[in-house]
Amino acid sequence: DLDKLAEELKNKKELQRKERENKQLNERLSMKQQRASLPIYRHREGLLEAIGKHQVIIVVGETGSGKTTQIPQYLYEAGYNRKTGNEGSDREFMLVGCTQPRRVAAMSVAKRVSDEMDVKLGHEVGYCIRFEDRTNKDTKIKYMTDGMLLREFLREPDLASYSVLMIDEAHERTLQTDVLFGLVKDVARFRSDFKLIISSATLDAQKFSEYFDDAPIYEVPGRRYPVEILYTKQPEGDYVDAAVVTALQIHVTQQLGDILIFLTGQSEIETAASILEDRSRNLGGKIKELIICPIYASLPSNEQAKVFKPTPKNARKIVIATNIAETSLTINGIVYVIDAGFIKQNCYSPKTGVESLVVTPVCKASARQRAGRAGRLCPGKCFRLYTKWSYKHEIEESSIPEIQRTNLGSVVLLLKSLGIDDLINFDYMDPPPSETLIASVQQLYALGALNNLGELTTLGRKMAEFPLDPMLSKSLINSEKYGVSQEVMVIASMLSVNNNIFFYPKKGQNVTVANNAISAFYVTEGDHLTLLNVYSQWKDSNYSTQWCYENFVQPRALNRAKDIMEQLQNLCERVEVALKSNPTDKIQIAKALTSGYFYHTARLQRNGEYKTLKTPIDVDIHPTSSTFKEKPKCVIYYELVMTTKNYMRTVAQIQPEWLVEVAPHYYTQKEIEFGESSKKKLPKIKN
Ligand code: ADP
Ligand code: MG
Repeated sequence: DLDKLAEELKNKKELQRKERENKQLNERLSMKQQRASLPIYRHREGLLEAIGKHQVIIVVGETGSGKTTQIPQYLYEAGYNRKTGNEGSDREFMLVGCTQPRRVAAMSVAKRVSDEMDVKLGHEVGYCIRFEDRTNKDTKIKYMTDGMLLREFLREPDLASYSVLMIDEAHERTLQTDVLFGLVKDVARFRSDFKLIISSATLDAQKFSEYFDDAPIYEVPGRRYPVEILYTKQPEGDYVDAAVVTALQIHVTQQLGDILIFLTGQSEIETAASILEDRSRNLGGKIKELIICPIYASLPSNEQAKVFKPTPKNARKIVIATNIAETSLTINGIVYVIDAGFIKQNCYSPKTGVESLVVTPVCKASARQRAGRAGRLCPGKCFRLYTKWSYKHEIEESSIPEIQRTNLGSVVLLLKSLGIDDLINFDYMDPPPSETLIASVQQLYALGALNNLGELTTLGRKMAEFPLDPMLSKSLINSEKYGVSQEVMVIASMLSVNNNIFFYPKKGQNVTVANNAISAFYVTEGDHLTLLNVYSQWKDSNYSTQWCYENFVQPRALNRAKDIMEQLQNLCERVEVALKSNPTDKIQIAKALTSGYFYHTARLQRNGEYKTLKTPIDVDIHPTSSTFKEKPKCVIYYELVMTTKNYMRTVAQIQPEWLVEVAPHYYTQKEIEFGESSKKKLPKIKN
């Protein structure tokens, strides 16, 4: 009876459709309930009123109270996207913008808000991070990194597209946020229709208020349960291992409730995750199910989403995070926090010009924030992997704003491009040390971005167009002269991927196969050329994923590099850098790189160790860069990482003579010959 069958099938389909609709409706309803249950919800009207009345307000509220996800939606609902005149250039709507110091936060929050509003990400709600713009002409709420907004000033110095801007996570005091403060304060002065919200998770909002001409402070009280703090009796030698052991102890002895572990970066997090997986597998059926979720900047977004999935009954989730989970992201369900007590910070010495990433102890303010993550659901516990004595006596109260401990090269270049010449008297909340400003100006002079009057050169103007470190943009622009811009562009893209290119299996016979496959890529002249080699071979395979798997290369990383390259290519066109190719001339490629990286040079000593060239510091080649058969006499490096030693990461072999050729402002023949630090006197540059 075919008709009957068809009828039944139709009914069944209909039923399934109804069920699906019902489920969606429930999800949306529950989204609505979740929104209404956030602490900030009761302050919706109050906040909107305050924003209506004042041009600038400071909002302070406990992490997780709903500042980041809700305030932009309230503004949208209240009609802040409407245009009142013909401001905002050619856009149909005004934008509500919200900045985040971290790209993971910008992406994840935008995703969440698009779900809450039931719209497609990249349309009404979008985000913009370096090399990835997911917004379009319909975008009304735009999340972005503070660095991206800073770059928008180059196109739109009055931020004409924005009706409201929320500078979020202001307490983090990143370099970019601090510079934004000065710029948006100025915008607010000459655009009366522009609203500014500064939002922070800590209570020292007075400083923000004073800086923004006594802007009113609006407090959103959060809810918080007590958190018991436990310390280790002795200092821990290996905090990654200690964190793993503590997590397993919690798992077998404490009631259910998720665990959040704070470590310093991707490799520590991956190590901890893999040890945890092994050990819990060995314990097998003896323990309840463990769900292990790492989260860090370069994790792909589908993996990031896993962190937010509710934990099933009878299981426990362990989130292993960088300090991204301190205030930027709130993960519901955390009852236990394990705080290893460290973060990775950049550190700069204007005297030596050395910039490095250093693992340093967290400050008390951060330690308190971390502990607070355990008390959102019910009373919680925080396990600090350091002693009480060390907390009391060794740890700083708060950390130094980044602007006072980092190289200011990119920022100085950007400000100069915006026509801000008086860098000393710029309206800083906390001024950078003047030696750092001077050192940055001198570096830009040596790179040729500024002339001896401290004015931006044509080269400098071009360099500012690239969202890259000045040294890398200089190499890229200069590579045209050496006839290898195509190659340097690939290298610049690979360097910007910010992720492991190779895939190293943890154990098994694959390890040898992988090592052989990976070392087959090594180019004796160094890591930069190795990166180029990997990319070229992948390209020859017609960008095949299969090829990646066979050669232990991460397809995700390469696809990202390809994406970045396309964007760099557009920028090159825009500033008229001709794309020339000469893939076999390794010397020209290395020279082009040296023309940007001559600041990052080290020389082999008689004792077999390296010293940096201008201001001698002991450094060593990072173990991951194993391409050299024997130690080269002279190298340039991409970055310096300080762990147990000062390690140069991503290293290329060069000839010392090139230094005088590519940077005659900076190196003398004598210095090169004797490897001594006989300083060439730099002219006094106005700044
Ligand atoms: P605040 O900015 O005040 O710290 P948020 O607006 O970030 O607070 O978070 C409000 C709520 O939204 C929190 O309960 C958080 O867990 C939830 N939330 C935020 N992002 C996501 C996400 N991607 N998935 C699920 N829940 C999320
Ligand atoms: Mg937030």
